[in-house]
Amino acid sequence: MKIGFIGLGIMGRPMARNLLKAGHEVVCYDVNKANVDDLVKSGATAAVSSADVARQVPLVITMLPNSPHVKSAVLGEKGVLEGAKEGLIIVDMSSIAPLASQEIEKACAAKGVRMLDAPVSGGEPKAIDGTLAIMVGGDKDLFEEVKDVLLKMGSSAVHCGPIGAGNTTKLANQVIVALNIAAVSEAFTLVRMAGVDPTLVFDAIKGGLAGSTVLNAKAPMMIESNFAPGFKIDLHIKDLDNVLDTGHGVGSPLPLTSLVREMMSTLRADGFGQDDHSALARYYAKLSGTKIGK
Ligand code: NAD
Repeated sequence: MKIGFIGLGIMGRPMARNLLKAGHEVVCYDVNKANVDDLVKSGATAAVSSADVARQVPLVITMLPNSPHVKSAVLGEKGVLEGAKEGLIIVDMSSIAPLASQEIEKACAAKGVRMLDAPVSGGEPKAIDGTLAIMVGGDKDLFEEVKDVLLKMGSSAVHCGPIGAGNTTKLANQVIVALNIAAVSEAFTLVRMAGVDPTLVFDAIKGGLAGSTVLNAKAPMMIESNFAPGFKIDLHIKDLDNVLDTGHGVGSPLPLTSLVREMMSTLRADGFGQDDHSALARYYAKLSGTKIGK
């Protein structure tokens, strides 16, 4: 199948490469030409705009930072809808506000274009391995139609409900990940200050109840003081803002999310917005004067 791919950043490029490896043709576009050139080296064809992508394919996947980027790439000038034929399918795999997914789907439906929201969890390593967890909102039959393609990029794809439900699920994921990273930072700062080696603590607890995918991925980064992204603080702030907006809209209490959001703001103000979210450890280093890593 010929598939369009828009948004070729940390996640989009490896995801598109897995579609190429599975034998699909990929027509790609990104506002950053270097990212397009990089994917063309792997066998994709370059388009000159999102509309140009849409003209050439029956299915377009988008993997963009946030709601305004998806709105611009789909609904804006030279966007997907400008080049779309009736019946085109858009699968937006970006993590955006559920309300934005609903608005964009409505505008698409008015032009006979079908859309799913299908954000992912797993980060760059799982994007490379093709083992992302994919959470999908939208029409169930449309989900079944594209499921095989999704499973070339992920090891699971779960239909969570109507349009927006994929992104609501992703918000839950981002709350759990952010709070878990903050807990690991807090606990590992404690053991370092109390004179116990964080590496040994990691080995001792990872098989117990405190063990988690977050602990396995982020504790070694904190121990090595390696905060190369990965998933950037700036993107996690974006997700937590979407959580807070959605939570305020439905009246759901979010005391812990609000606190970790503020911790991340401090890191951004200190110039660490482009660091991996494991850099929450830096916040504790600032408070305590002690680094988890050497
Ligand atoms: P990124 O910043 O690395 O990539 C985004 C890409 O979109 C960039 O190449 C940028 O040039 C391009 N872009 C922006 N606006 C555009 C437009 N209008 N038209 C075309 N291209 C445009 O971000 P990423 O880390 O790849 O994340 C993408 C999405 O996936 C985000 O919503 C993020 O929250 C989510 N996500 C990221 C991770 C991760 O670990 N990085 C994990 C899960 C989910």
